[in-house]
Amino acid sequence: MDSKLEVYIEGLNEAQRAPTLHKDGALIVIAGAGSGKTRVLTMRIAYLMSQGVDAFNILALTFTNKAAREMKKRIAGIVGSNEAKNLWMGTFHSIFAKILRFEADKLGFPSNFTIYDTQDSQRLISAIIKEMQLDKDVYKYKQIQNRISSFKNSLITVKAYANNPELMEADAMAKRPRVGEIYAEYVDRCFKAGAMDFDDLLLRTNELLNRFPEVLAKYQNRFQYILVDEYQDTNHSQYLIVKALSDRFQNICVVGDDSQSIYAFRGANINNILNFQKDYDNVALYRLEQNYRSSKNIVEAANSVIEKNKTRLDKTVWTDNPEGGQIIVHRSPTDGEEGRYVASSIFENRMNHQMMNGDFAILYRTNAQSRAMEDALRKRDIPYRIYGGLSFYQRKEIKDVLGYLRLLINPKDEEALKRVINYPARGIGGTTIDKLIVAAKHYDRSIFEVMQKIDQLGASMNINRGTQTRIKNFVTMIQSFQIMNEGSDAFEVAEHVAKKTGLLQELKKDGTPEGVARIENIEELLNGMRDFVEEQKQLADTTGSLAEFLEDVALATDMDNDKGDEDRVALMTIHLAKGLEFPFVYIVGMEEDLFPSAMSMNTRSELEEERRLFYVALTRAEKQAYLTYTESRYRWGKLVDAEPSRFIEEIDDKYLDYQTPMNSYRYKPLVDADIFGDIDKSKLRLKKPVSGTPPKVGTPTPDQLRKLRKIRPTSSDAPMPSLAGQLEAGTIVEHIRFGKGIVAGLEGKGQDQKAEINFENGGLKKLLLRFAKLKII
Ligand code: ATP
Ligand code: MG
Repeated sequence: MDSKLEVYIEGLNEAQRAPTLHKDGALIVIAGAGSGKTRVLTMRIAYLMSQGVDAFNILALTFTNKAAREMKKRIAGIVGSNEAKNLWMGTFHSIFAKILRFEADKLGFPSNFTIYDTQDSQRLISAIIKEMQLDKDVYKYKQIQNRISSFKNSLITVKAYANNPELMEADAMAKRPRVGEIYAEYVDRCFKAGAMDFDDLLLRTNELLNRFPEVLAKYQNRFQYILVDEYQDTNHSQYLIVKALSDRFQNICVVGDDSQSIYAFRGANINNILNFQKDYDNVALYRLEQNYRSSKNIVEAANSVIEKNKTRLDKTVWTDNPEGGQIIVHRSPTDGEEGRYVASSIFENRMNHQMMNGDFAILYRTNAQSRAMEDALRKRDIPYRIYGGLSFYQRKEIKDVLGYLRLLINPKDEEALKRVINYPARGIGGTTIDKLIVAAKHYDRSIFEVMQKIDQLGASMNINRGTQTRIKNFVTMIQSFQIMNEGSDAFEVAEHVAKKTGLLQELKKDGTPEGVARIENIEELLNGMRDFVEEQKQLADTTGSLAEFLEDVALATDMDNDKGDEDRVALMTIHLAKGLEFPFVYIVGMEEDLFPSAMSMNTRSELEEERRLFYVALTRAEKQAYLTYTESRYRWGKLVDAEPSRFIEEIDDKYLDYQTPMNSYRYKPLVDADIFGDIDKSKLRLKKPVSGTPPKVGTPTPDQLRKLRKIRPTSSDAPMPSLAGQLEAGTIVEHIRFGKGIVAGLEGKGQDQKAEINFENGGLKKLLLRFAKLKII
């Protein structure tokens, strides 16, 4: 073995080493968060290569393309980049899109098929609903798109749907009896447009492997070793692909954690991991128990939460890491305050612990929660990055440029064509487009093909001479781009297209700040393409063609666009955070009906999935975790009362540090520097009040719980203006944390009045009276 690799393998613990060095056959590693599953997968690949397995014969499937790239880099560091280049590594979607391009003709698709993103799919479905003259309030296009997606992920084809009375009845009951027809039309239109949606990439791969035994044999032979990360979140379609490909050699290694299965709503099937041992012969099962990521407190708190789930495999997770601070629980009156608290806490932690912005993550249940956080971070000038919102490639001006690029690669692409045919305006209006769509349907051709024959067909379609000429000019322009594309890389083509189509001029004419921002975005796109071309040439032995770029973009998740070169706080949903780690993690909006989500509390299994989600969130933290909640929050446009999430109460008390309902109630950053003078901040956390309103009891009864969630600030939380008048030098007071003390002096007036007090447990402190919880004795 290579000495470098040896060092790496020595760095693994024994439990990790065993699956890393496992010989052929099927193996599964089931282990809790942070125990090194991903690391084992990486090392195993390097090890296999050191044993003479050709990189071409290894297929590794990861959760994001970024994870794949990082893995590849790490392996390149061990075995050399020339070797690592040839590994097949990526998400299910990206790997099988590549294979489908090779084999597209077998399925009747062009090899340059377009990949429709969710927005394209929704637009097309919406157009079909309109064409069929259905009530769009009954046939909601997003819901229909979801339904079609779930059919596809369960491998229910149009034909299978038509033969399934139960499904049809379900749709009829929902007063949408024509879902089957929409599905059929949608599939047909995608096919004619030479387009596959995300689900097709899996569905069509299954079709390919089922219908063509020689193709199956070819890929079985190619992928002699298959490795899958996050196996607990594979759906049925993905499961079947892995099963088919690994059937011959059975050299399959999957790693996962049933406690982190969080994609059931998108069809992930936890049974895939539970049944793995039945699916293959002589499966070796490995368990890892030592967590290397998080402090003891975090690991144990997370354990205490996930234990509440009934459906789970028994696992032990422990750590040798330092105990770390307790998890801080913080209550705010509103989400605005919650944002301010998080922002100032990040600000302080960054200073006190010499952290970078990138060491912090704010995790939430739903994307909408990011706004309050963003506002607060902006106000404090803390740079941040949102993952998963409207991604760069979804912006209008970017989609416009990409529309032209997609069209020149695949002129049948209906959604791209409709997007750009009259933008910038060139006198081909809506009526003309409708006529073209009708004609395309009539002749069973794509719209572009009809446009190419507009000379012959124009008159019969009632399209006048002038419009015909404009259509011809458009066709000629696209064809000229195609010619250019043959000898140029992605960047060169795109730059040419942005200029020649008039897109840039159109935005320049606009002249508003938004217009300027849009031009900058297009420039950013072009910069990105230039980088892509360079990287492709270095990392992957290809030319950086436009077709390659478009595929990369179509499959990019937001995580992938993170160049990692900017130091920013990360904001994302918990779903996106899977597999990642950060020193400081803030889990915000810890409220009933938000987390757990109101939509997920109907059945035990839904609630258990929410709990797994919480487990994922908590286990992202290395050093310190925060749980924050508010007392009221705007939801659906109304201010509603909020109750703390049951998940907070499920954590054993000893792991928590309640900052409520103490000073934090009116937390004003920076002010507390005044309150506490220059004492050690790490000792600043307020312990649970010894007496007074208990924010939490040992193991509360359901009734107590209900009451507990309703705790509102009591009079003892409110400022005590009267106190000021009663204090003077020499007054003896008692503070909830510092114990008894004697007032040494007073300064300031009104809201700003402070008292200097000599405490028995804390020495001399300056406290802002507005906040100080003092009792005169
Ligand atoms: P998750 O379930 O969240 O995906 P995981 O089981 O995949 O977690 P890894 O991400 O592989 O865990 O590892 C967690 C952290 O622990 C990483 O920072 C990794 O580098 C580190 N780690 C894993 N094994 C070891 C080890 N033997 N020695 C030191 N650090 C380790
Ligand atoms: Mg992992």
